[in-house]
Amino acid sequence: MQNLLLRRVPLPRPRIRLVPNPHSAAPRRNFHISTTRASMDPKPVASTSQPATTALDAPHAAPVADKPKQQQQKKAKVAAAEAAHPLELQPKPEFFEHRIKMYDQLKAEYEEFVKAQPREEITVTLPDGAERKGTSWETSPMDIAREISKGLADKVVIAKVDGHLWDLERPLEKSAKLELLDFDHPEGKRVFWHSSAHVLGEAAERHYGCHLCLGPPTDEGFFYEMATDRPVQPGDYPALEKLSDMAIKDKQKFERLVVSKENLLKMFNYNKYKQYLIQSKIPDGESTTVYRCGPMIDLCVGPHIPHTGRIKAMMVSKSSASYFLGDQANDTLQRIYGISFPDKKQLSEHKAFLAEAAKRDHRKIGKEQELFFFHDLSPGSCFFLPHGTRIYNTLVELMRSEYFKRGYQEVISPNMYNAKLWETSGHWANYKDDMFALNIEKENWALKPMNCPGHCLIFDSRDRSYRELPIRMAEFGIIHRNEASGALSGLTRVRRFVQDDTHIFCMPSQVEDEMAGLFDFMQHVYGIFGFDFHLELSTRPEKFLGEVETWNAAEEQLKQALEKYYPNKWELNPGDGAFYGPKIDITIRDALKRSYQCATIQLDFQLPQRFNLKYRGSDEKKDEAGKTDEATVNRPIIIHRAILGSIERFVAIATEHFAGKWPFWLSPRQVLVIPVANPYKDYASQVAERLSAQGLFADVDNGDNTLQKKIRNGEIAQYNFILVVGETELETQSVNVRNRDDVGTKARSATIPLAEITEKLVKLKEARSLKNQLD
Ligand SMILES: [Zn+2]
Ligand SMILES: [Zn+2]
Repeated sequence: MQNLLLRRVPLPRPRIRLVPNPHSAAPRRNFHISTTRASMDPKPVASTSQPATTALDAPHAAPVADKPKQQQQKKAKVAAAEAAHPLELQPKPEFFEHRIKMYDQLKAEYEEFVKAQPREEITVTLPDGAERKGTSWETSPMDIAREISKGLADKVVIAKVDGHLWDLERPLEKSAKLELLDFDHPEGKRVFWHSSAHVLGEAAERHYGCHLCLGPPTDEGFFYEMATDRPVQPGDYPALEKLSDMAIKDKQKFERLVVSKENLLKMFNYNKYKQYLIQSKIPDGESTTVYRCGPMIDLCVGPHIPHTGRIKAMMVSKSSASYFLGDQANDTLQRIYGISFPDKKQLSEHKAFLAEAAKRDHRKIGKEQELFFFHDLSPGSCFFLPHGTRIYNTLVELMRSEYFKRGYQEVISPNMYNAKLWETSGHWANYKDDMFALNIEKENWALKPMNCPGHCLIFDSRDRSYRELPIRMAEFGIIHRNEASGALSGLTRVRRFVQDDTHIFCMPSQVEDEMAGLFDFMQHVYGIFGFDFHLELSTRPEKFLGEVETWNAAEEQLKQALEKYYPNKWELNPGDGAFYGPKIDITIRDALKRSYQCATIQLDFQLPQRFNLKYRGSDEKKDEAGKTDEATVNRPIIIHRAILGSIERFVAIATEHFAGKWPFWLSPRQVLVIPVANPYKDYASQVAERLSAQGLFADVDNGDNTLQKKIRNGEIAQYNFILVVGETELETQSVNVRNRDDVGTKARSATIPLAEITEKLVKLKEARSLKNQLD
């Protein structure tokens, strides 16, 4: 009965992961252009944002005055779109009736089949070991949930029967183990969002008469992809939401029906995409399932929530153009994204989260604080302005100071190489499309997409002895990757970036110690930013290079290291390693609890082989001619590792994590000195100079604004400390301190001698404290 051969086609999931994993040759994402709802509605703007641009007198800031006008125009467009298209097509496309007719007939036949199945007593075992009795082909997981409690029955989203997801209302066929999952369970959430995609699909069919393709859940909701006569516009969202609400109010049941391939082809004869999926995914003579909710019947393996009424809140979030199966050679489709919840409150919370995320958007803060910008003449390559460069350099300095303490050696290697290098490394065969290739003197060259091959040349530049190992070779090398122009996004998806990249060349026996060192390094760095993190070990994939024994030994060392430093705090991701070695992925969580993968630790057995890297071991044997016996040649292992990952992307993450309120050590604007009146301008300048001489970023505002206005501007610009100076301060060689993060100091007059505050500020910078506090 379980010929569920049609699996959901894996689609490139919209990820929060911003730049491909530093070292992996990730496949190119399919290109799509987004129209977000945020671009429609007036964006929630930080109360400080507008004055900030004026206060900073930003030449790169957008002209603020035009905004309300644009919004008005957009609102008018929405209204026009609504008027141009009715809520629902009249008459309905013929396929609605065609599908239902076939469905009803097949359903009747199927019910006969179910009726004919034997009714026997079965035992249902719950996770706590408790047992319940039932009848085969009658008792459903929902019956069991109701027996347990009404509260549970209302809350449960999906069942798991003997480890497989199973519709709550679908009768059990034999004795089984049963789990009941709610929305908070990751699998429950995916089923909930997947089911919501059907509701959105129903709304889209009713609104556009479109032909649906695929509607999977994502990490942040779901989307449905479809072929429509016209591009989806943000102005269509209210209609789609209204139709979804109608489906939800109807409490449409998700009904499951097994249908043969032959009948499926007839049922979906109007839709070439479904035809393609049926033909390519279901072997002849086999069958799969369709699900019906309300007027909508869709090809789907399921399972789903019991009925659409479980969705208490749903919104359409954005839409984009895409290609069928992600292939540019195929038809252009429309993708509509949405999110839904079993509780209205959760949607409000989600909206608040979106508003907060928009407020912290690094592109917005980058403009307001004049940190960086992009130019059409070099898309995906950032221009860091002086204040952004301060942040950038401070991050590099942080890593560099740690390198010094931790036995790393920094190198500088070329940016472009003859293609022969990429042939050796394997990039030319596997990664060529993601590289910028050049033709120089009739030969192929390319800009480096990673530093590793160059570091192999450095390792191989002379004889190496085991005594030198491990060699921890670090480089802040400039890397270029050919991302599609449409996929570029702020600092998070760029073409040009720098990693805090290191390759550790070590003996196999040193892997565990190196891991320990890397964990300590990582923990130290993430601790400075206040990031939580999470570790995952990915092991040997089905397709791998090298010897199984080498893999097993390395995986064992990684496991031991993880268990020693993070007992029970890491997860195993079997079969997800790179083809050249196992890896540990580290995901950090920011202040908004969003996850990003920054650090990665990857073991590599292949590159040393490709570059024929060797070291002389203690057991080296030479023949009579003085040549080393090949049997005693030792191959190092390479550990690729980055902690910040791409520094560009890390700047974006940090900007959003701190919401532009930089901790003192990382702040591009640490101190602003303001005189209360003209006679104290000289003293104000002296104070700023003294602080600058100590390596602090101190400015003085000797302009014509009033004192209050200057203070306000300094606050908006997020100076960590504002020092006000007047007669008393001049006489006593002191300053009056206002702390950005301590409102009390604005009312109090905390006067501190200049020598003392200088010392305290220098100490605060060195401490790299998250607290903006003078001790
Ligand atoms: Zn489905
Ligand atoms: Zn590497």
